[in-house]
Amino acid sequence: MTSYSIADLENRLRPSDLMPVLFVGHGNPMHAIDDNEFTRTWGRVGAGLPAAQAVVVISAHWLTPGQTHITDAPTNRVIHDFGGFPDELYRVQYETTGDPRIAALLAHHLAEYEASLDSQWGLDHGTWSVLRHLQPHPTVPVLQISLDETMPLPALHELYTRLHALRRRGVLFIGSGNIVHALGRARWDGGGAYEWAEQFDHDTAAALIEGRVDQLVRPFETWSHAALAVPTDDHYRPMVAALGLLSPGEELSFFNEAIDMGSIGMRSFITA
Ligand code: ZN
Repeated sequence: MTSYSIADLENRLRPSDLMPVLFVGHGNPMHAIDDNEFTRTWGRVGAGLPAAQAVVVISAHWLTPGQTHITDAPTNRVIHDFGGFPDELYRVQYETTGDPRIAALLAHHLAEYEASLDSQWGLDHGTWSVLRHLQPHPTVPVLQISLDETMPLPALHELYTRLHALRRRGVLFIGSGNIVHALGRARWDGGGAYEWAEQFDHDTAAALIEGRVDQLVRPFETWSHAALAVPTDDHYRPMVAALGLLSPGEELSFFNEAIDMGSIGMRSFITA
């Protein structure tokens, strides 16, 4: 990043109206190729988005303990990071460019976190399974920021406040995970939602609407059902990242509020 001046970096993106922030519950990788209620909603939400100059995704599937990485390859490879799914899913491609200058600009904003550039990663399925419905014909660069899963949730929230200004530079930020994500208890053959999954989904949704950030970044201390609904917090973290990008008091609206497979909350939000 030292090859660019800060002015060079800042001029890479034009001033814009405040861009929305999304959190998307991505769920089962099969949604990448399925046509269902969730994916049709992704398409509808995507069609209504303002034109972005760049898309930056925080995916539950890029974990870098102790560090924060930012993709900076000029083109993004597609990573098929799952096992045991049909061949068709492994053949999915999603052609996008990256942008080293935008990556360096993100790293500049995250300098105090020593965020580092990473040309090895590409787009994992947390990103492309959603984006291929949200923007089927991508025309702007797509970047990812990794999750340091050792960082306490309040600190992760704070980190993302540092990127808020880029929402006025045409950057569309998308967190991709699941608020309720108890994969080990998922009902692959169908069945209703577990009571604790519905309760945690309901409680966190109310906290999101009311802006109770202090509770949302301390779910295990706040809600007893968190232990079941969030057995590991990798899929919860992208929601906390999206939360950090909001303006104080900014309103949200939900979409895809259903719980899939009994224990995978698909609840997603977009700033109003
Ligand atoms: Zn996932």
